[in-house]
Amino acid sequence: MNIVFVTNNQNKLSEIKNLVSSNYNILSLKDIDFHNDIEETENTLEGNAMLKAKCIHSRFGLDCFADDTGLEIDVLDCKPGVYSARYAGPQCNAKDNIEKVLSELKNFENRNAKFITVIALILNGKQIFFKGECKGYITKIPRGQDGFGYDPIFQPLTSKLTFAEMNQSEKGKISHRGIAVKKLIDYLNKQNN
Ligand code: IMP
Repeated sequence: MNIVFVTNNQNKLSEIKNLVSSNYNILSLKDIDFHNDIEETENTLEGNAMLKAKCIHSRFGLDCFADDTGLEIDVLDCKPGVYSARYAGPQCNAKDNIEKVLSELKNFENRNAKFITVIALILNGKQIFFKGECKGYITKIPRGQDGFGYDPIFQPLTSKLTFAEMNQSEKGKISHRGIAVKKLIDYLNKQNN
């Protein structure tokens, strides 16, 4: 079964392909020849995920899903949250975002945080959401070379490693995206029975 994952992020694509069974052929935006950026203009993870899924569904009529992820840090009133991608400014990269978070947490002992992923699926015209959460804390310095985004400073509660010190399959077993994708796959499997 073909299903489009509405993302240009190669890391996310490869993480999800690693988690999904071979019954599903995950197509990327490149595979369907869509090369534009979809601007995330909503102020919730649900809103942005569904906005991206609807954009592809209305244009191509294909089954598809999109995700949006936010990092919520307790002492920063759940920031950066839905604004995680551009936290350090419009042109920022992952390193800038990490530096901003570390500087804002400089004087805090409480470094509790969680990642949340929302997946919006449009299947046969029906819209459904799946959510995954991973609790952990923000390390004092970045550690590890793998992963992307905030991975070098996020250590899940159940591990001594940051996400960037794990390989993809270790991360996928406990991560926000892994949990949300598992719910998505369970749902898709039920549709096939
Ligand atoms: P989006 O879902 O691509 O919009 O992600 C928002 C921001 O969170 C971006 O800065 C991503 O790099 C970051 N992000 C998303 N997923 C992860 C993850 O699994 N680990 C670390 N950072 C992430």
